Amino acid sequence: MQRKFIRAVFPGSFDPITNGHLDVISRARVLFDELIVAVGTSPIKNALFTPDERVEMIKQILAGTPRVSVEAFDGLMVDFAKQKKADLILRGIRSLTDFHYEFRLAMTNRAVAGIETVFIMASAEYGFTSSTLIREVASLGGDVSNLIPDIVNEKLKERFPKLKGNS
Ligand code: ADP
Repeated sequence: MQRKFIRAVFPGSFDPITNGHLDVISRARVLFDELIVAVGTSPIKNALFTPDERVEMIKQILAGTPRVSVEAFDGLMVDFAKQKKADLILRGIRSLTDFHYEFRLAMTNRAVAGIETVFIMASAEYGFTSSTLIREVASLGGDVSNLIPDIVNEKLKERFPKLKGNS
């Protein structure tokens, strides 16, 4: 009997995408037949990049990565997942704080939309990395280049001319 094709959606703000997100994507990619990285366009607190900029950066970074695509969505992630006929939602977990939030989110999404969520544990290397901290440190001129892809670092340098490593 043939195994069912599995399509997963990885939703998030990705403002900006970090090596932590990429680590989750690269480990999840081999578990599913198709992975859609879904960039939320709802307004977020202290946003740095527009949804279009976020999508564009991720597209460049993941260009040529088999079975992974990038799309923007607005509204509820479960509505987007249903529209894409996704079998499950993928999320990452870094800490107990993430777990508490993600647990309730996953329960809610299953209750309201009947969709399952699967989790990938953060790697030891990037478990402490968050988009929020990247934005904060970069805005104060700190060097975050080893925590984000080069394309994101270049964009951050444009945004924050005082960023370390800028000539
Ligand atoms: P949201 O605003 O929906 O939390 P994020 O872009 O912050 O979106 O994160 C998307 C998903 O990626 C979340 O499940 C988050 O826990 C996970 N994630 C973020 N950073 C990391 C990391 N460094 N390692 C593993 N998972 C991560």
